[in-house]
Amino acid sequence: MIRGDIKALAAYHVPDSSGLIKLDAMENPYVLPEGLHREWLNHLGTVDLNRYPDADMAGLRRKIAQREGLAPEQVLLGNGSDEIIQMLLLATNPGTCVVPKPTFVMYDLISRWLKRPVASVPLRADFSLDADQFLQVCAREKMEIAFLACPNNPTGNLWPEETVSRIARGINGQLVIDEAYAPFAERSHNHLIGPNVMVLRTFSKLGWAGLRLGYLLGDADQIAHLNKVRMPYNINALTQASADFLLDHLDVFEEQAALIRSERTRMFSALERMASVTVFPSQANFLLLRVADPKAVFEGLKEAGILIKNMHGADPMLAGCVRITIGTKEENDAVLAALQEIIG
Ligand code: PMP
Repeated sequence: MIRGDIKALAAYHVPDSSGLIKLDAMENPYVLPEGLHREWLNHLGTVDLNRYPDADMAGLRRKIAQREGLAPEQVLLGNGSDEIIQMLLLATNPGTCVVPKPTFVMYDLISRWLKRPVASVPLRADFSLDADQFLQVCAREKMEIAFLACPNNPTGNLWPEETVSRIARGINGQLVIDEAYAPFAERSHNHLIGPNVMVLRTFSKLGWAGLRLGYLLGDADQIAHLNKVRMPYNINALTQASADFLLDHLDVFEEQAALIRSERTRMFSALERMASVTVFPSQANFLLLRVADPKAVFEGLKEAGILIKNMHGADPMLAGCVRITIGTKEENDAVLAALQEIIG
């Protein structure tokens, strides 16, 4: 029998985007340059599909560790960072999971799957986080694990270094700093890694969303224990081969990320000039806006062939908000032109 609480859940909904400019899911809008695309396909041709993939992935972990200035034993690979969140919630004691609110939905959703209690700490109206309040809730709720998305999704802001390090120092349990948007942020938190603090990353936003590859950086002993709840062969052979190849060409993706960052600055200024739009500062590859009529903006953009995410209703703090992923220059121009039409 399916559990009653599972029956009561809504399935993770992915809207149909066919024929639309897709600015709803924080993907990189650029494809591989043509020459590199051909080389990548040739590389994939070396994979033996009749065999299980490399279970240990020592080579891949070594490449990632080198890039991060850490040891391969400090790297755990997941089928997207979502899978790593699940491994963390599976392997830690079943105490409370503490998160800010609003934040990335999977911390709460996976906790529910695993019947783990969740406590949330509301952000202030400007989406800043009160470190003392966060630590108080952790102490009161007998927190076992906490997730801080830095930058945060869906608000896009990066909490000050002082806020994050205060929480890291004061916490009595496991802190996971989720840096899914690190390629677009001015700062990351590898220096805080220790027995209590781990950093979670993904290649999804850098341009490999289709591969599903995330990684966790942490203390080698902690990583060794988490590795025990990793599904055998969780990273398929095509993803492994692709990542092995693409990690030697990261400059291409870093250039694309730089383009996205400069488009973010341009979009921010253009949106800031629009009357009746409030745009929030972002260190990620998306912008959160507050508008008078979010439904009209969502529907109007859809009619103009652009899919964004309507966040109104997801949380009281997100009233009137929509989230728009940064696209190519042409896509962003299309957003601005359509918005002018819709809200004048
Ligand atoms: N963390 C955050 C903060 C996210 O916004 C997302 C995706 N939206 C993820 C993790 C999951 O990324 P993936 O599973 O693609 O690695």
